[in-house]
Amino acid sequence: KSFSDLGLIDSLCEACTALGYKEPTEIQAQAIPLALKNDLIGIAETGSGKTAAFALPVTLISESGTPTLYGLVMVPTRELAFQVSQQFEALGSLIGVRSAVIVGGMDMVTQQIALGKKPHVIVATPGRLMDHLENTKGFSLRTLKYLVMDEADRLLDLDFGPILDKILKVLPRDRRTYLFSATMSSKVESLQRASLRNPLRVSV
Ligand code: AMP
Repeated sequence: KSFSDLGLIDSLCEACTALGYKEPTEIQAQAIPLALKNDLIGIAETGSGKTAAFALPVTLISESGTPTLYGLVMVPTRELAFQVSQQFEALGSLIGVRSAVIVGGMDMVTQQIALGKKPHVIVATPGRLMDHLENTKGFSLRTLKYLVMDEADRLLDLDFGPILDKILKVLPRDRRTYLFSATMSSKVESLQRASLRNPLRVSV
């Protein structure tokens, strides 16, 4: 299978080629066609290509000309936030996707300026995102179309559950949601029930 077989547009397939991705990985081949039409649970480890498995479907929306914030990716750690953001920018480079990283331990004002520039995608750790929702004037997630929870098991192990619940409350209901996790636990399952609608499940 090739990337274009998965239902992706040419500019995204070209970006994959430019990054040296010759063909989709297993999780990408399974997840992308489903993610274009459904909420999705992906059980996959780091190294499987899971980031592109959600970044490609999320990026596809900017083709339809959405000029505003449409994607939010919640991650457990700062390091992961920067990696995920880089993948969005690399995969979306031909269609000008801009992302912002919102993580703890970094300057609030710098992040407020970044949010003011209207990124298409925000990659965030939950605590700092909540901080901005409460304290950054003019910032909201009203226009959101895609929510991704990446490494959901680690998000919950780090006790981000209560903050995630609060964030979920302010997100538009009419959205697509993807949850990726290396493992499925009862905590992950209850997060899934609270946030996904009729999800399909893929596992590699
Ligand atoms: P991830 O599991 O998302 O952390 O990805 C692991 C690594 O695989 C990253 O360095 C990606 O750039 C790379 N990668 C993702 N998809 C592909 C692909 N289809 N072919 C080759 N490498 C890939």
